[in-house]
Amino acid sequence: MSFKEVIEKYDPQLVIAEIEAMTAADVQRALAAEQLDNRDFMALLSPAAEDFLEEMAQKAHAITLRRFGRTILLYAPIYLSNECHNSCLYCGFSVNNPIPRRTLNLDEIERDARILHDQGFRHILLLTGEAPGKVGNDFIAAAAERIRPLFSSISIEVYPMEKAIKRWWRPGWMG
Ligand code: SF4
Repeated sequence: MSFKEVIEKYDPQLVIAEIEAMTAADVQRALAAEQLDNRDFMALLSPAAEDFLEEMAQKAHAITLRRFGRTILLYAPIYLSNECHNSCLYCGFSVNNPIPRRTLNLDEIERDARILHDQGFRHILLLTGEAPGKVGNDFIAAAAERIRPLFSSISIEVYPMEKAIKRWWRPGWMG
């Protein structure tokens, strides 16, 4: 089931009404739960949760420590392209901004990757705007393949997809 299909099952007005009806007892139940359900999540977002911010922060901190330890992952982004069909107000890549549009070629991507590698980065995030017609899955996969030997992990942040892309990564990849 796609995200769109899931989200369409919810009536936004009903969800807001449910959130606003949550009580302090609902928030306390959510804070005590090991495994949270949708109602717990709504309780933590509700106005009633405002009096429990410190408890929520402590619990979030404990979970973060349990899952990740005291680590900080430093990564650097490589923008493969500034092509985008969207118009997010906060973003310089917005289609409404009259800027020159570029998509790096594989040699340029490798050149940028080597600069970051020489500066000590071992974790990379590849990004694109939302222009799948111009920056397709195969291109992103080829970019990741090209720079793979330089990094311990490669993460990818791309446009929404309707279905799973073909498995192009090799076993052992972290990204
Ligand atoms: S690049 Fe991302 S954030 Fe920027 S306009 Fe496109 S979709 Fe929005």
